[in-house]
Amino acid sequence: MSRKPIIGKCRLCGEIKKLTFEHVPPETTFNNYSVRILSGEEVIKQVADPNNPPWDFSDTKGTIQQRGRGGYYLCGDCNSKTGQWYVPEYSKFVHIVHSALQEVKGKEFGALGIKMKGIKPLSIFKQIMTLFCDINEGMMGDNSLKDYLLNKTSTNFKRERYHLYMHIHSGSVERMNGIMVQFASGVGLITLSEISTYPVGFALYIDKPEAYNPEGVEITIFSQFNYDDEIELEIIIPKLESNIFFSGDYRTKEEIENAIQESKDN
Ligand SMILES: [Zn+2]
Repeated sequence: MSRKPIIGKCRLCGEIKKLTFEHVPPETTFNNYSVRILSGEEVIKQVADPNNPPWDFSDTKGTIQQRGRGGYYLCGDCNSKTGQWYVPEYSKFVHIVHSALQEVKGKEFGALGIKMKGIKPLSIFKQIMTLFCDINEGMMGDNSLKDYLLNKTSTNFKRERYHLYMHIHSGSVERMNGIMVQFASGVGLITLSEISTYPVGFALYIDKPEAYNPEGVEITIFSQFNYDDEIELEIIIPKLESNIFFSGDYRTKEEIENAIQESKDN
């Protein structure tokens, strides 16, 4: 591995500084095993190939990242601040979901109902927003996120702009997608970024059309708590499959195959 420091623009404070490696999602949330990272270009080539099902990336070129998913997004200061303020609560939350999943292992289920105690919603929310700032340059066009995320107690958040949805991750591809604009039939264009890895996935919608009802459970309300607020939470989290590269597409393999077959027949 190269020892040369990586200098760049920190995606939170915006300063040009030495950047440090950050696990995205955090290392303590099941992101410490090696992964194969595929480039967007290679993925699109694969998806466009009618002879391969869209979840089969076995022939696609990729690079192995030994220590898990992540990259050089933040400076050391921002990395350690968010790591101290938000990651422990986020990690606790994800581990509760993981334990609940262990209990239903081998059983069929469409959603998981979980009761949690001692949850700090604002820290969890801010960690998820930090992850979206990591994978999207320029704070997703919203500079107010800088103060919001670098001041742990700030509740100054543009609530009308964002809708955050969560699901239990399943299916055969993990997604770590920056903002994309997609067409939703009957609604029009939707703008979203998605991070979906074991055990949970998050889809962040920006200026979501009111008529569009995403799958998953909305947790935007986590942003309405204060930093020290600790709550009891009862939540029902739908299980959604990711079998294709596109964000917000939770079709099963069978549904995708049927759609491919239909388009071939027409
Ligand atoms: Zn920084």
